Amino acid sequence: MISPEIQAELAAIVGEEQFRTDPESRISHSYDATPMYQSLPDGVIYPTSTDEVQKILRIASKHSIPVVGRGSGSNLSADTVPSKGGLVMVMTRMNRMELDRENHTLTVQPGVHTQRIHDTVEKEGLFYPPDPSSMAISTIGGNIAECSGGLRGLKYGTTKDYVLGLEAVLASGEVIRTGGKLYKDVAGYDLTKLLVGSEGTLAIITEATLKLIPLPESRRAMVAHYTDLDAAARTVSRILSEGIIPCTLEFMDQKTIQVVEEYANIGLPKEMAAILLIEQDGPPAIVEHDLRRIREICQESGATHLEVAQTEAEGTRVMAARRNALAALARLRPTLILEDTTVPRSEIASMVREINRIADKYQLNICTFGHAGDGNLHPTLLTDARDPSEIERAEQAFADIFAAAIRLGGTITGEHGVGLAKAPYLEWKTGRIALDVMKGIKKVFDPQGILNPGKIFTDTPRTERGRD
Ligand SMILES: Cc1cc2nc3c(=O)[nH]c(=O)nc-3n(C[C@H](O)[C@H](O)[C@H](O)COP(=O)(O)OP(=O)(O)OC[C@H]3O[C@@H](n4cnc5c(N)ncnc54)[C@H](O)[C@@H]3O)c2cc1C
Repeated sequence: MISPEIQAELAAIVGEEQFRTDPESRISHSYDATPMYQSLPDGVIYPTSTDEVQKILRIASKHSIPVVGRGSGSNLSADTVPSKGGLVMVMTRMNRMELDRENHTLTVQPGVHTQRIHDTVEKEGLFYPPDPSSMAISTIGGNIAECSGGLRGLKYGTTKDYVLGLEAVLASGEVIRTGGKLYKDVAGYDLTKLLVGSEGTLAIITEATLKLIPLPESRRAMVAHYTDLDAAARTVSRILSEGIIPCTLEFMDQKTIQVVEEYANIGLPKEMAAILLIEQDGPPAIVEHDLRRIREICQESGATHLEVAQTEAEGTRVMAARRNALAALARLRPTLILEDTTVPRSEIASMVREINRIADKYQLNICTFGHAGDGNLHPTLLTDARDPSEIERAEQAFADIFAAAIRLGGTITGEHGVGLAKAPYLEWKTGRIALDVMKGIKKVFDPQGILNPGKIFTDTPRTERGRD
């Protein structure tokens, strides 16, 4: 508990209204988008400036109070669950942004919604490519802290490729500035890249400078149907090995196709083993050329049917089906656990087969979709948190899935981060020495361990993992 005296100090910084300890505020900040994790904070605080963030962190550090930075709480790794209590610091009131047309940069505060960034820059003919499916609700601070990816990651990269500079407040309350509006900068270690993806454990981000690029002139999408999983995987490898990089190259397995079609009713082929959703953008002549060659490759690799969207709007509708896959799946059972593993793209078919084998072994219903172009798959379990035996089997199945991904040369998370949910598996990926180096870095930034404690690193073995 935070003593009444400290509570009064915190309220004095942000104003009575912006520091809350009532049960409603505490409960509504006790969980995020990750099912089955919940823990109450002692208070919720809403700063409006870097200066306020500094003052809050000075108090937190003086009294060893945990602080969990939070944007919209849409993360899928239990990263904003205040598992050690303390303060949830919600960044959404810090939501100013400034466009620099000359340098093609946008300087934003962390609470700006991602969709607002897209809308603002696209009106100016500029483009901010990272497009997490949650962009209508997520904040840029959350995107940066998770290094979020999206459907356009294959061609354009992820959040880390667009963050040029940061302002961040350390646990001690001191401010650091990294990078700037610079496209080239090798002065010392790259602290910008280190903070991107640090999941709120190293510093609180209070400002970011984002790189913008010209908005592509046009876009076209197509769908390829497959009765054979390997033929779909072959297509992905061949397209990329010919040097064509589509802006989107997405995969859905049969179970996902069936559920999405029942939900969206857009004519997806429910009998197919897999489909690929492919989109290219750029000057119309190049888009036309690439799609023609991609169609040939799909046919040569064994696609049974191809459909090319006639208009950009039709393509957007097809891609929306993929973006909405999660919403469609969520309707089927009370609890949906969306996982996130990445394998080299040559191993996609093997990984999907492994996931299906593991699902059968544990008698679970797992649908798989994802970013085929970059090997990032989302095995998604439809389950019910009220059934302890099914949840126990699910835990074992996911452990097997992560182990399989690593065996195939992959990783335990491609875009959702480690948080609480994956902390027990991190060492499988990094090994002991690299994990110790990471812990050392954490100590330098946050010696008392007050920033998002319990996330990324855990001392609790997987089998003893508790959920409050
Ligand atoms: C339906 C759905 C679809 C999704 N699709 C994708 C997807 O396609 N790609 C993808 O990568 N993710 C996806 N996600 C996950 C999630 O939306 C992203 O991780 C997103 O970046 C989280 O943003 P947020 O504002 O909700 O952050 P939060 O969930 O509030 O926080 C996420 C992390 O960032 C930290 N944080 C937040 N703000 C700050 C700050 N100012 N300083 C320091 N740390 C901070 C938090 O402590 C936490 O560790 C999806 C989630 C849902 C529910």
